[in-house]
Amino acid sequence: MRFQHNNQYTQEDYESMEGLSALDVFLARVYRFVILAPTTVAATSAVAYTITKLLGYYDEVSTVALVVFDFTNLIYFFVALHLYRTGLRGDSLVKRQKLKSHKLMVGVSILIQFNFTIYLIPYGQWWAFAPFFIFFTVFFFDMKLTSWVTVGILLSTVLSWFISPTIMREPAGVNQIPFFLIRISYLLISSGLLLSLTHLGSKCLIEELEKYANYDTLTHLLNRKSMEGYMREALRQAKDDKHPFCIVMADIDDFKHVNDTYGHDFGDEMLKYVAHTILTGVKKTDYVFRWGGEEICILFKATKEQAESAAERIRKDIAKDSVNYKNEAQVSVTVTMGVCEYKGGMTLKGMMEDADAKLYWGKRHGKNCVVADIPEEAKE
Ligand code: GH3
Ligand code: MG
Ligand code: MG
Repeated sequence: MRFQHNNQYTQEDYESMEGLSALDVFLARVYRFVILAPTTVAATSAVAYTITKLLGYYDEVSTVALVVFDFTNLIYFFVALHLYRTGLRGDSLVKRQKLKSHKLMVGVSILIQFNFTIYLIPYGQWWAFAPFFIFFTVFFFDMKLTSWVTVGILLSTVLSWFISPTIMREPAGVNQIPFFLIRISYLLISSGLLLSLTHLGSKCLIEELEKYANYDTLTHLLNRKSMEGYMREALRQAKDDKHPFCIVMADIDDFKHVNDTYGHDFGDEMLKYVAHTILTGVKKTDYVFRWGGEEICILFKATKEQAESAAERIRKDIAKDSVNYKNEAQVSVTVTMGVCEYKGGMTLKGMMEDADAKLYWGKRHGKNCVVADIPEEAKE
C-alpha cells in the first residue's frame, strides 16, 4: 500500500498525523466538493429562480418569500465560504475540531433549502427531489448525519402534504391514498438506498483505516505499533516449524549532521530515500518497520548468513546513491546495522537488544557496516 505524500509536512505535522484516520484523508480529498457543491447548487438555483420570477413567471410565489430565500442563500454561501477558508490545515487536511460544525451546517442548510424549495416551487412535486438533497450528506459517510437529514426531509415532505395541499397533493376529488402510498414507498426506498450507501462507505473507510493505522506516513514503512504482530508470528514459526528468522536494526549515520546542515525537511527526504532503498532491497516475505526516529528494523525470514549478505547489499546500495539538495549538492548517507538471528529460547526483547548492541558496536567501530557478530575478544 502506498500513500500520497505531501513533501511539505514538517516534523510537527508528521507527529500530529500519527493518529490520522482514513476518514481524515478521504475528507481532505472530497472536502471542497462536500462544502462547495451544496452551496453552489443553492446559490445558482436561487439566482435562476429570482431571474425567472423577474421575467414574470411564478406569479403565485410571493416576492417576500423569494427575497427571504435569496437572503438565506446568501448567508449560507458566506458561512460555507468561511468554513472552506478556515476548515483546512496548512497541509490541506480538514481540521478535526471544525468537522462537527461543517456537518451541522451542511445538515441544517440542506433541511432549510429543502423546505424552502418545497413551498416555493408551485406544482413542483419537490418531494421527488428529496433523495437529491440527502445525497449531499452521503460523502461524509456519517450514518448519524445522513439519518438525521433523511428523517428531517421525510418529515418535511409529509408535513408539506398537509400544510400546502394545493401544491403537494392531487386535485380534490382524486383518491389521494394510492399517490400517498407510491410517494412514501419511493421516499423510503430511495432514502434506504442512500443510507445503505453511507453505511457501505463508512465500512470501507474503516477497513482502510485499519490498514492505515499500520503504516508510517512519512516513510510508508510499517510502523512500530504493527511490529509486534509480525514478530510474534515469526517467533511462532521459528519455534513450531523451525523456520529461521533474523532481526536487523539499522540506524542512519550522523543524521543529526544532515539535519543541522541541510534542514529537517531535507532530513526527512533522506529518511525516505533510506526507507525506500531498504524496502526495495528485501524480499516480499521480509518486513521493514520504522522503529523510531531514523532507526529502521527489518524482519528477515532467513538465516543469519542470508540476512547478513542482504543487509550488506542494502548498506552498499544506500551508500552508493545520493539525494539532491536544491540542485546545489548531492548528499549521501550511510547506515550501520546489527543482525540478530533467532536461537531457541530467545525472546523478542532479547533479540532486539542483541541487534541493538551489535548496531552500537558498529557505531563505535567506524559506522557504515553490518555487524552480525561481535568479536569474542571485544565482548568485555
Ligand atoms: P549516529 O551515527 O551515532 O547514529 O549519529 P546520529 O547523528 O544519527 O545520532 P542519532 O541516531 O542519535 O540521531 C538521531 C537524529 O535523527 C535526531 C533527530 O534530529 C533525527 N531524526 C529523528 N527522526 C527524524 C525524522 O523523522 N526526520 C528528520 N529529519 N530527522 C529525524
Ligand atoms: Mg538513532
Ligand atoms: Mg543515527
